Amino acid sequence: AAWEREVRRSATPRRDGGMSVLVTGAAGFVGAHCALALRARGDGVLGLDNFNAYYDPALKRARQRLLASREVVVLSADINDAALLERLFAAVPFTHVLHLAAQAGVRYAMRAPQTYVASNVAGLVSVFEAAARHADPQPAIVWASSSSVYGLNTDAPFSEEHRTDRPASLYAATKKAGEAIAHAYNHIYGLSITGLRFFTVYGPWGRPDMAYFSFAQSIVAGKPITLFRAADGTEVRRDFTYIDDVVQGCLGALDTAGKSTGSKSGKKRGPAPLRVYNLGNTSPVPVTRMVGILEKLLGKKANKRVVTMPSNGDVPFTHANVSHAARDFGYHPTTSLDAGLRQFVQWFIQYYKIDPAKLPKGGRVSAGGSGK
Ligand code: NAD
Repeated sequence: AAWEREVRRSATPRRDGGMSVLVTGAAGFVGAHCALALRARGDGVLGLDNFNAYYDPALKRARQRLLASREVVVLSADINDAALLERLFAAVPFTHVLHLAAQAGVRYAMRAPQTYVASNVAGLVSVFEAAARHADPQPAIVWASSSSVYGLNTDAPFSEEHRTDRPASLYAATKKAGEAIAHAYNHIYGLSITGLRFFTVYGPWGRPDMAYFSFAQSIVAGKPITLFRAADGTEVRRDFTYIDDVVQGCLGALDTAGKSTGSKSGKKRGPAPLRVYNLGNTSPVPVTRMVGILEKLLGKKANKRVVTMPSNGDVPFTHANVSHAARDFGYHPTTSLDAGLRQFVQWFIQYYKIDPAKLPKGGRVSAGGSGK
């Protein structure tokens, strides 16, 4: 009963007409930011995360403490725990699920393939099952797909109609599978499901496994960084998208997802929406320019090594067309890479307690440590 009280309190909106949102992956990068933004505008939020060690769990715990300071509870649990999800949906009448828990990262899939299947396929099914069968009324679901579904496409910018049948990694393949699974749950159970294809999201409280973050750590530590050039010699480019822009997109998608689309007991209200949107920045930047901005902000040169991109799941470039998200929920990314990286570096220096004035050239300044 104490457990029920705790999760209900966290999930209860603080404003009239507010949403009650289950955020999976809430101790993660995007999840923590979305949970904070929802809470800030008075929505009820309950987080869930398994705190796995894919990257520094101390960073996930720090995000959890930040959320706790805003009265958002993050349960330590796995999305594959069907009994727990059932208990949760019985205890709380969620209006929405923001499903962000997943095994992210393209290259790690070559080392731990089954982890991707467990979290991104089986785990997705667990969440859809619980929402479809154990919640009444059914909550509207918004979940994270990925720009990686565009795979080996070359006809950029990518629109939602472009081919997604050529994934270049197992990660991309599991996200593509998720989109097919979403179709089935929408069709059979009338679940309202919105998939969001994120494009290289970066910013404060980010993911240490991503290039901008690990490059910043290497630059500070005086360690070499490896940059890829595409097999045809062209520069690798990414449609880097700032976290605040992505959060606006996620909240916009939740707001237009509808409170519920039907109920087991009541009458159906017509076909439930099944939607998919790109959330990108629409202006790809060469990775070498991203490194140049980091060097400037950190006041230290990187020790660069450029090699031809191995066939390990990375794609040579990404570029989003976001006109559908703009049309349906006013998504307009506004943050330049310069401005966004400035925010990231400011956070990075504070979190790891780095004194930029004291960075010795090529010295051994550790960017490690668990921080706050
Ligand atoms: P993240 O790794 O920081 O967050 C994911 C969180 O989910 C982690 O805290 C992890 O502990 C948790 N998790 C993983 N498996 C779980 C499970 N089985 N049960 C419970 N919790 C589990 O990653 P992120 O960057 O915040 O990504 C959020 C979502 O967006 C993911 O679905 C990811 O695939 C997708 N995405 C991210 C990007 C990006 O650039 N950051 C790009 C495309 C798609």
